[in-house]
Amino acid sequence: MHDGEDNGPAFQTPEQLRARAIELETRVPPATAGPRTDDERMFLEKAAALRADADRLEEEQQAIFAANERELRLMAADARTAQREGIPFDHYGTPAWLPEKVPDAALDFPPAANALDYLVSVIDHLTPDEIGDPPGPRDHKYALLHLDAAVETALKARLELHDWQQVCKEPGSVTRQDFEAGRFKSCDAKEAGKRLRKFNVPYPDGFSAAITRLGELRNRLQHFGANGARSDVEAAIVPVLDLLVVFLDDVLLPALGEPDRATAHRHMLHIRAGLNRIDSYTAARLKRLAPELAGVKDRTVECPRCHQDTLIVGITAGCRFCRSGWPPEELAVEYHDIIHSGIGAGPRGTCTGCGRSDTVMPHVTRIADLRNDNQFHDSVTFCFACAASVPDE
Ligand SMILES: [Zn+2]
Ligand SMILES: [Zn+2]
Repeated sequence: MHDGEDNGPAFQTPEQLRARAIELETRVPPATAGPRTDDERMFLEKAAALRADADRLEEEQQAIFAANERELRLMAADARTAQREGIPFDHYGTPAWLPEKVPDAALDFPPAANALDYLVSVIDHLTPDEIGDPPGPRDHKYALLHLDAAVETALKARLELHDWQQVCKEPGSVTRQDFEAGRFKSCDAKEAGKRLRKFNVPYPDGFSAAITRLGELRNRLQHFGANGARSDVEAAIVPVLDLLVVFLDDVLLPALGEPDRATAHRHMLHIRAGLNRIDSYTAARLKRLAPELAGVKDRTVECPRCHQDTLIVGITAGCRFCRSGWPPEELAVEYHDIIHSGIGAGPRGTCTGCGRSDTVMPHVTRIADLRNDNQFHDSVTFCFACAASVPDE
């Protein structure tokens, strides 16, 4: 899948913005040269605005970079879990593990397992079915309801680990016996979030707002039926999904004891594999990756596993989207097998950059080689070890 440049204004890096600012400033003579003209004042204002833009952009990029680094770490952890448990990898490069069917009699899930069970259902409703048909209105309805339940259960599961009384609407008013028997009124998701923050339990930014939007849509859906557009439903679901996964990975799962944590990590394998097959989730993640990829188009190629244009070639090549990683010589071969369908010779030639001979592939289209209309692209002879474009012999 090759998405070309969009038609909006070209993305500018902070360095480019600052260079523009300096260029404008040099057009203005020093203050000692006399009073400023209107034009000069305008240049200085524009330069200040460009610098502010550059600072903001840099901050955004750092936040995105941190989020992506985190994803790469999680992917590595997932791969280790899969390896330890002998779980095979699917063709998306993610461990293919399916949650066991829970026997009907086993309704006494611990709260965290219950939250994950709801989330697995959300994922299963939002991904294409066995014959590849996309989710329909009924799937969206259940995805929304189960996501709502997953969030509430996950927040309360963490709250319970802190102090079970806090799960009750009025803490201190319920006996442990009644609590275990379920004879109590519990607090809602919004209140649970508030209490977690009060006890300084880490809580993702923007989670509350996203949960509120989801709750509004759920109310509308339950009272007036699912007449909302699919895009409305997905727009409410995706941010909550994104942040719930962060909450699970960073807050709830690390607080669990064994064997609950091991079970939870296996559920997360299935959840993460599913997330990559949800279109709107994919679109949101690609948007988040865009600024980071903008600066490295000459070393980014299509990923042979997830087919997104997000594979950055470097000392260790890694796909920012599906988080697959390769040693360069293996990547050259897999790229040839999948992207070139194995047609023509495999890796050949010698890299003028790093001198390696097993990592050089002819006819590689880097993202920098794509043209606006998506119809035409150039290609280079490319080194998968050092990302040099190698002159043809
Ligand atoms: Zn990939
Ligand atoms: Zn090289």
